[in-house]
Amino acid sequence: GIMLDKLGQNISSALNKIKNATFVDKKLIKEVIKDIQKALIQADVNVKLVFKMSKEIEKRAINEDIPKGLSKKEHIIKIVYEELVKLLGEEGQKLELNPKKQNIILLVGIQGSGKTTSAAKLARYIQKRGLKPGLIAADIYRPAAYQQLKQLAEKIHVPLYGDETKTKTPMEIAKEGIKNLKKMDVLIIDTAGRHKEETGLLEEMKQIKDVVNPDEIILVIDGTLGQQAKNQAKAFKDAVGEIGSILVTKLDGSAKGGGALSAVAEINAPIKFIGTGENVDDLEPFDPNKFISRLLG
Ligand code: GDP
Repeated sequence: GIMLDKLGQNISSALNKIKNATFVDKKLIKEVIKDIQKALIQADVNVKLVFKMSKEIEKRAINEDIPKGLSKKEHIIKIVYEELVKLLGEEGQKLELNPKKQNIILLVGIQGSGKTTSAAKLARYIQKRGLKPGLIAADIYRPAAYQQLKQLAEKIHVPLYGDETKTKTPMEIAKEGIKNLKKMDVLIIDTAGRHKEETGLLEEMKQIKDVVNPDEIILVIDGTLGQQAKNQAKAFKDAVGEIGSILVTKLDGSAKGGGALSAVAEINAPIKFIGTGENVDDLEPFDPNKFISRLLG
């Protein structure tokens, strides 16, 4: 995760120029904005978004009255922070579930991203909210995937549909799983993260999507990735048409998730959850404020 930790570092050191300055003038503000632009563009955040954001920072830093109790420096730092949060979509979007029908969630992502673990975590999250989740194991390539999800499902007492005989296609499993788990409020479908070849994987995701017609496709991304996060996001989006949201895993370690920020910008989908550990309860709704604090911290 060199890239992403660098993003936070670069922005922090840009802000330090303001913190350490004896005098903050327009010239310094412009210089710092340039540094922030450079940091974001290096981290692959969409150039247009970066310029829009920097214009907004500049306008606010120069025109806004300094709020009571803040120094000019603190005010500018606050503005930068707020605009970064805005880049992520301020409020933090929630997973919308319709209690009047069965909701189908399709999880996609590369092997090792934490998809299977996240499927169980999501089931647990939904269960805690008083709805009945069901799990479908549609990864037929990774030998242990079914057993892994089965163990997790048993642990949280959630019904699982899968194919132990290994004779069905992922599309058949998904279709039959939906039939089988008709009574559950929310179905979470775990899919493969590796195929014989990458195009095969992406083609399969498209086929599964066409069969199950999901209410939301969630892309699972390893939070320790840098630049690759963006490329993965783009590949999956191109394959399935639209990604509803992103779940960023492994943010319990030292990774700060800067790569995920690039993915957000690339496919224009919000992060809705973050994974903060290996246990089924280690899932949190995304909080943009917390994310940026961590990125810059
Ligand atoms: P999949 O191949 O995408 O299905 O990935 P898995 O769910 O098998 O996860 C891969 C590895 O990452 C496993 O060892 C998981 O325990 C671990 N993992 C998944 N999510 C998290 C997380 O949020 N934090 C940490 N520390 N580990 C995670």
